[in-house]
Amino acid sequence: MRIRFWGTRGSIPRPGPETVRYGGNTSCVEVRSDDGTRILLDVGTGAHELGIALRDEAAAERLGGHLLIGHTHWDHIQGFPFFAPFFERGGQWDVYAPGGRTQHIEDTLAGQMSYDYHPVTVDSFDAAVRFHDLREGRFECGRVRVSTRYLNHPALTLGYRLEADGAVLVYATDHEPHSILPLDAAPGAEPVHYEDRRHLEFLAGADVVIHDAQFTLGDFPAKLGWGHTPVERAVDYAIAARVGQLVLFHHDPLRTDAEVDALLELARERAARGDFVPDVRAAAEGETLELPRREAAPRREPAAVERVPSALLPKEPPRASTVLLVEDDPDMTAVLRGALEPEGVRLIHAGDGESALAVARRDRPSLVLLDLKIPMLDGLEVCRRIRGEGDARLRRVPILILTGNRPDERGMLEAFRAGATDFLTKPVKPTLVRSRVRGWLLRRLPEA
Ligand SMILES: [Zn+2]
Ligand SMILES: [Zn+2]
Repeated sequence: MRIRFWGTRGSIPRPGPETVRYGGNTSCVEVRSDDGTRILLDVGTGAHELGIALRDEAAAERLGGHLLIGHTHWDHIQGFPFFAPFFERGGQWDVYAPGGRTQHIEDTLAGQMSYDYHPVTVDSFDAAVRFHDLREGRFECGRVRVSTRYLNHPALTLGYRLEADGAVLVYATDHEPHSILPLDAAPGAEPVHYEDRRHLEFLAGADVVIHDAQFTLGDFPAKLGWGHTPVERAVDYAIAARVGQLVLFHHDPLRTDAEVDALLELARERAARGDFVPDVRAAAEGETLELPRREAAPRREPAAVERVPSALLPKEPPRASTVLLVEDDPDMTAVLRGALEPEGVRLIHAGDGESALAVARRDRPSLVLLDLKIPMLDGLEVCRRIRGEGDARLRRVPILILTGNRPDERGMLEAFRAGATDFLTKPVKPTLVRSRVRGWLLRRLPEA
């Protein structure tokens, strides 16, 4: 497997003399497996130069490949309208991105090329371009096995795990730890939040992990909810997941080359203090990594990957899902209604613990948003009782706890023991609620 970086920057392109070494273009990574399968991870502005290189390299009829888009924030799709091979007759391209929202990925990408934003539309592509909506699961691109995993970002975002030729690459960018606590955790310490542990499973044993490392722990809490990883935590994940090489990615547009050097130094120092020492580098535009072919199976196959469903979503829009909101504060109820109802969610409401149980039994929701401080029964007790119900659907329903302040380690473990699935911290960001709730609902869809 060969990996080449065409864009390493997050948020907005940052060309200029201070970013020549690590690069100014936004996210785009090219991957080629030994059998020639071509995969592009995101199509930020880096995809422009990559497209030209591809067009010059191969005859049009042999041009083709798979575009795996993590999410559709601009820094990950801005090169899409400028990708030269789309304008070469005979090319065959498959485009994948997180779907299952109110519109298909094809319409979202066509939107950025509509008349107001761009001189040509998707209809003017000369190559055959097919679009696929994805969720968490697995599928194949040629002989490359792809697994996807929802990341924590204020847009529905997927990470990609690619396995081919006995090598494993994980691309996980635009992701905030579900909990960065405790702040003084030892390098490589096991995370407290269950979703962070699942993230480790996704990275487990990879030869290379390209990971979001936009901020530092010092930048938090000012950057809390922005959807990015402090570099210290990216290192901790690489240690705990026994990753061969960690590549720091999605460099902040405000960081100069010298500042990325300093970030890399910080990361290497932390890595050296772990009980396993991954190699660490910072992604640099134009650089290539060669992963040696291994005949044997990867070092550590995550068991969970074998059980997951197909990642490919059917074309018809998902049916409206019912979400039970248990919340006694009318302002918070209005905020959540405003965030979720335009997403096609049917929101039902209960203002206290007793009625929450009654409504849950009657309406059998697909997800529960549960405030901890509510009248009658407190939230944790509601959680325990739902898990003790005779109805298997209720016993397994995802329960997202709404907490007034960031829960400490003990409070979080207590809620997990009571049966909580995940947490949303107030004040909630509508964009973050939307992507988190959508992700949980899509995970629960039956096999297509
Ligand atoms: Zn981004
Ligand atoms: Zn983003």
